[in-house]
Order: sequence, then C-alpha cells, then structure tokens
Amino acid sequence: MAKIGIIICARYKNCGGGKCFRSMKERVGAFSIYPESEPLEIVGFSNCGGCPGGNIEYVPEEMRKNGADENGADVIHLATGLIVGYPPCPNIRRFKAFIEKAYGLPVVIGTHPIPQKYMDVHEKLPFWKEGGMAELAGLLINEPVEIKKKYN
Ligand code: SF4
Repeated sequence: MAKIGIIICARYKNCGGGKCFRSMKERVGAFSIYPESEPLEIVGFSNCGGCPGGNIEYVPEEMRKNGADENGADVIHLATGLIVGYPPCPNIRRFKAFIEKAYGLPVVIGTHPIPQKYMDVHEKLPFWKEGGMAELAGLLINEPVEIKKKYN
C-alpha cells in the first residue's frame, strides 16, 4: 500500500483533480511507477498556496501525519499542472528538494500524463529544452501519444 499526498499548482486551485485520480486508477504517467498489484490511497490533496509556494513548507507535514492509521503519506506527488502550466512552476526542483530534506518523504514529479495538446505547443518553445523538462518529467512525457491524447 502506498499512501500518496498530491500537491497541485495554486493557479489551478479550483481543479477537481479528475485527471490525477483517473491516472492513478489507470497507472499511467507518474503512477506508472507503482505495480498494478499495489493498492494506492490518497491521504491528502492540496495546493502550493500560490506563488512562491508557501504551503510547501507546511502541507507535506499534515499529509505525513494524517493517514487512516496515523501513518500518513509516504510519498508526495507534485501534480502535472506544475509542469504544463505556462510558464511551468519555476520552483518545482526546490519544492522537491525541500520536502525530501525537511520531511524525509520522496517526491515524484507529476501525476497524469502530459496532455498531447500541451506537448504540441511546448515542444516548440525554447524553455522546454532549457528547463530540462524531458529529464524532469520523463514519466509524464514518455507515455505513448494515444495515452497523452486521452488526457487532452
Ligand atoms: S507556479 Fe509554482 S509557486 Fe506558483 S502557484 Fe504554481 S506551483 Fe505554486
């Protein structure tokens, strides 16, 4: 059983999380790291608090504490919105480093596959290469086009 906390970009704070939850069920994108046989539980869903991301300092602790059996999140996912928003979150690497150091929780970049319609645009923009997105978000990018189209 993996207990998962998801933190989304506050620019999309009204998002219902549909693609994140669907990709968890389908084990695609960043959720492809978990074997089909492993049960997954969401123990927290929140946002960064708005630029520059003050909630990152506190919300992982709440996620860590508040699991069903008081053993909360054992992994944090920074949602795909941090990558596909324009511009992508400039702090994503800092968030990952902070949460891993401060709370000892591993951080996975992303949730659902990158929608193909975003790939089509972002691949033409220089920041995509300059920002090392292929390396940072490989789990989200490297899904087949047919799957990424399903997340448009
Ligand atoms: S761009 Fe980054 S810091 Fe700004 S609201 Fe989104 S996740 Fe938070």
